[in-house]
Order: sequence, then C-alpha cells, then structure tokens
Amino acid sequence: LDLTPPAPAKGCNVYVRLRPESVDEIAQGGELAASVQPSQRDIHVQMREPGCIEPKLVQHRFTMDRVFDMNTTQEDFFGSTAASLVQPIVEGFSASVLAYGQTGAGKTYTMIGAHGAEETARDQAKAAKDPVTRGLIPRLIERLFKTLRKFDSSARFSVRCSFIEIYNEHVRDLLTPVKANLKIREAPDKGLIVTNATEVPIADTEESIGVIKQGTANRMQAETSRNQHSSRSHAVFVLTLRRENLDDCSFRVSQVYLVDLAGSEKLSKTEVQSQERLRESTTINQSLLALGNVISALTKQQHHNNSHTSHARGTTAHTHPAAMPHVPYRDSKLTRLLQNSFGGRSYCTVILCCSPHSHNARETIATLRFGDRANKI
Ligand code: ADP
Ligand code: MG
Repeated sequence: LDLTPPAPAKGCNVYVRLRPESVDEIAQGGELAASVQPSQRDIHVQMREPGCIEPKLVQHRFTMDRVFDMNTTQEDFFGSTAASLVQPIVEGFSASVLAYGQTGAGKTYTMIGAHGAEETARDQAKAAKDPVTRGLIPRLIERLFKTLRKFDSSARFSVRCSFIEIYNEHVRDLLTPVKANLKIREAPDKGLIVTNATEVPIADTEESIGVIKQGTANRMQAETSRNQHSSRSHAVFVLTLRRENLDDCSFRVSQVYLVDLAGSEKLSKTEVQSQERLRESTTINQSLLALGNVISALTKQQHHNNSHTSHARGTTAHTHPAAMPHVPYRDSKLTRLLQNSFGGRSYCTVILCCSPHSHNARETIATLRFGDRANKI
C-alpha cells in the first residue's frame, strides 16, 4: 500500500487576497475598484484609462484558483490554502509559498500576522501568537506539529528553521545578523541550502514564534538605517523537516520556503533620485523580474510538454522536438534558492496580495497579471 500522496496536480496554485480599504485610502476618496465574483475564482478590477474624448472605465478580468475577499479571516484563508500542504510535507514533498504584491497590500499580514500598528518586531511577534490575527507561517507550523504528534511510532521527525533575507542580491542571516553575504549551494541529498545560515531546531509553535520574533527584530533594525528596507527585501523563512523511517532507517527531507517578497511596485521618479535608491530598485526589480522570467519559462515548458505529448500520441513517427525552454534560475539569488520548489514534484503556492481601492488599481492589475502567468504553470 503506497500512502505517498501524488505529485501536485498543478504546477502552481495561485490565490488572491484582497485586504480591507485602509484608513488612508478612505481619506483619499476614490472608490472600491476590485470585486470578487460569486464563483470565488474570478476577480474584476476597474480602472480609469484614457479614451478618445474622455477617460473611460475599463474592466480587467482574471481567473485564479481562488479569490478571497476582504472579510476573509486568517483562519479561513489558511484553511483554504496552505493547510492542504501539511500532509504532502509530512510525506516528504517540498513546498513553497510566496506572498507577492505592492507594499501595503498585506503580504506580511498574510504570512506572519498583524496587530494594528505592526511596525515593531514585538507587535509582529504578538500578532503571530494571537490566535485571531496570526498569519500563515505560525498556522502552518502549528498544523504540522499537530499532524506529527498524531503519527505512529514508525517514523521520527525533526523540524528546524532558518530565517534569511535577500537584499540587493545579498543573502543575510536574520537569526545571526553578523553573517552577511551567505552563499547558496547545492548539497548532496539536502537540495539547495544557504551555507552557514543559522538553523534552529524547533519542537512546537511557540518556539517558531520566538524565531520569527528574533528575525523580524533584526530586519527592523536594518530598516532604521536604510529607509524602507523591509519593503525592498525578500524575507525567507525556511522550514526543514527530516523524517526518519524506523523500520528501514531510510529518511526524507522536505524543505518549505515561506517568502514575504519585496514590494512589487514600480518606484516613482522622485523615489529613485539617489544612487543608493536607484541601485536598490534595480536589483529588487531584477530579482522579482527573474522570478517572473522563471515562471514564464516554466509556463512555456509546460506548454512544450503538453504539445509534445499530444503530438506523440497522434503519430508514430518521431519528429525532432523543439528544444526545452531554458529556465533561468541562476539569474537571481531568489530564484536559485527556490529552484527546487518550482515545478516537478514540489508544491508551489503564490498568494497575490491586493488593495481593493481605485488609487491602487494599476498596481493591483500588475499583480494579477504576474499571477496569471504563474497560474498557467
Ligand atoms: P505589506 O507587507 O504587503 O507591505 P502589510 O501586511 O504590512 O503589507 O499590510 C499593510 C496594512 O494593512 C497593515 O496595517 C495590515 O495590518 C493591514 N492589512 C493587510 N491585510 C489585511 C487584512 N486581510 N485584514 C486586515 N488588515 C489587513
Ligand atoms: Mg511587509
């Protein structure tokens, strides 16, 4: 009897989460521009665009795996998205969950949690603890431990985590901040690892919240020295689960990458004045761009595979297949790190965090376009 769950049916699951309008947005006037359709898979966003005589309202429509409206609780969101990853992770599959969207769209709220003015590490740690506001990472860990406790004695598990940040194409350890410039390399039977990143063994959810708190504090500290640091860096929480089967001494390692991506917004001209800023924006765009390119290449590969198999089915003659599209994983630190969690037998989830408000409609549409490509993998 093979209890191993099948490889993911779909290369990448793409979800949208709308956050409520913010106080600032309401104060600015404007209106709600994004609406979740009754199918819960379709989202419409309207935007005013130049017309021949006067601006016209254009409706942009997208279909994803599921769209969550602004009233969705953290519990419901987790239950309908990442909760289903727990079983495959326990069985030895790797997974990644990426939160994508413009700054202020709800990425950190979704991944870690929020507690009102969550600008300090203490607030974020409080949010991660709070059963109501805690986000996806602490919930996933809680569910994982719950599942492990129910397991019979045929396997032994150990869970470790690390917390790193990619900023200007440098990898930094958020648990031991003196370790800057970490390298990513391929390790035998471990997959891609960040060499020297601090790995902390954890035995329960509480311990993982301690790690989140520590990492967030180090991230915030950098923020005071470099303006807006955290919105321009990718925060990557890595869970490593090692499963040892006691009957045959075999083991499996699954890695889970939980990523709060840098803000996807294009910087305005005034924001890219200084050289420092310019460099930041180009490298961040480079790394998000690389992510988009990897996703595009995987989409093409998927298409290539599909057309090749349907072709092969229809004919016995073997024609020369077109070359497999190259996937440019090496173009950025982010895509290198995530290389093993895309495609194939790994579970990939993209969460598109969006503002519902008309002032942010342009960025919301850009975010949904990004997700649209991932949705085709
Ligand atoms: P990002 O990390 O994408 O920059 P944040 O997660 O910090 O954005 O969210 C911006 C603000 O919106 C925060 O004050 C956060 O608490 C609030 N927020 C985001 N998503 C939600 C939501 N689904 N429900 C309630 N408040 C939210
Ligand atoms: Mg954030």
